[in-house]
Amino acid sequence: MEKFVIAFGGNALLRNGDVPSFQSQYERAVEAFNGIWEILEDNSVVITHGNGPQVGNILLQNENSKNIVPSMPLHACGSMSMGLIGHIMSLAYDSVRLQQGYSKEPVVIITRTVVSDDDPAFSNPSKPIGPFYKKQEADSLMNDLKWSMKEDSGRGWRRLVPSPAPMDIMERNSIIRLLADGFQPIAVGGGGIPVVRRNGKFVGVDAVIDKDLASSLLASIIDAHSFMILTDVPFAYTNYGSKDQEKIGRIKLDEIQDLYSRGFFASGSMGPKIKAAMEFVRKGGKRSIITSIENSRKASMEQTGTIVLPN
Ligand code: ADP
Ligand code: MG
Repeated sequence: MEKFVIAFGGNALLRNGDVPSFQSQYERAVEAFNGIWEILEDNSVVITHGNGPQVGNILLQNENSKNIVPSMPLHACGSMSMGLIGHIMSLAYDSVRLQQGYSKEPVVIITRTVVSDDDPAFSNPSKPIGPFYKKQEADSLMNDLKWSMKEDSGRGWRRLVPSPAPMDIMERNSIIRLLADGFQPIAVGGGGIPVVRRNGKFVGVDAVIDKDLASSLLASIIDAHSFMILTDVPFAYTNYGSKDQEKIGRIKLDEIQDLYSRGFFASGSMGPKIKAAMEFVRKGGKRSIITSIENSRKASMEQTGTIVLPN
């Protein structure tokens, strides 16, 4: 029995070509929970997840109905995505646990992540969110709505928003208590809702916190043994996508820091995962694991996946 934080990537709910309907995301979530079921059974786990496509679609719905109802700010859209995904994931989890005859009740925590008002990210939007657009659509969105946008790994154009560093998790104590009391927490969705302390108040801000970095922070806060990032590739690779591509297996912190500094991991996708994995181990975590849902069980036994270990 070990304490884990498991961060689900976007592919736990949506894969390339999926229509982002409720039903298809629910079915993907059932697959995802079937994939990690044994880890949940054997350990004490906090589940976290991304929200990029979902919050992007909520923003789109807001944009298109702003003449009928006031549109909500990005941080409020983030909270909606957490509620939606929390609903999908807890339904899927409950269906899987019913079949497995297992008792741990899920609890979805609408999580707020504290960021600093002075974070340089606010003057440099860098986080891709929402759907992919064709170049022509992107041009008019940049022009009409003043969005920052960028081409993303050959998959199309996406909106860019500030991505400040997570400083603290406001619901840290509830998460710790729920875990200790035998619940199955689902928390820090989409990296949490970014809030800052300003003039004696807490306010929501329009930014997106990287879910891997926020999940890493949570893993350190709850003193987890293992931090596991589940995505759509079984390993992090050097020379990814080229004929010289090589998978990274078990690796020490200093060695992967060297590869990170040499630019092997794309910013906005594998880059933040490696950074999050390193941060957890640097702060005293036993290991960070990056792999696919399919390989998660074997990776939890260090038999596959990219495993970042202390020096
Ligand atoms: P998630 O939704 O799980 O956060 P991302 O798309 O953000 O997924 O990150 C996973 C993607 O990172 C992979 O699908 C892959 O295309 C990309 N990637 C970039 N660099 C690398 C690398 N060096 N090794 C493995 N994958 C990489
Ligand atoms: Mg990502």
